[in-house]
Amino acid sequence: MSVLGISESVYEAIRSHGEETYPHECCGVLLGHSSPEGWRVESAVRAGNTRTDSAHNRYHIAPVELVKIRREASRQGLDIAGFYHSHPDHPAQWSPTDFAEAHWIGCSYVITEVAQGKAQVTNSFLLAGTTEEDKRFENETIRVG
Ligand SMILES: [Zn+2]
Repeated sequence: MSVLGISESVYEAIRSHGEETYPHECCGVLLGHSSPEGWRVESAVRAGNTRTDSAHNRYHIAPVELVKIRREASRQGLDIAGFYHSHPDHPAQWSPTDFAEAHWIGCSYVITEVAQGKAQVTNSFLLAGTTEEDKRFENETIRVG
């Protein structure tokens, strides 16, 4: 199983973002370095949730925003390690929509459950595989610190 390494401050920033946007979903991009065991996340960049039709159970990052984030990341010598979003009053498990909309193979997808405004469980899933056809989510361990 791969390991997502993340500092306590970045981990807490992700979780509090979900509390702030409750009852809507939050979303953002994780920047870091890859290592043999998994991603080491160095920072989290908040992104605007561009879905206005059902912001409580869908998230989307505008391509133009992603390009900007990616450019800034490479300036700092970082890669896009993955993405995070919250599940207001839903478990921290990926949904069929999350899976369908996940295209960054090799990246980590972090989900935080926010129940009644309080961040609960946070899980990470590695998008494994080689193509859209054989992609799959694999559970990974989050190591905080
Ligand atoms: Zn989701």
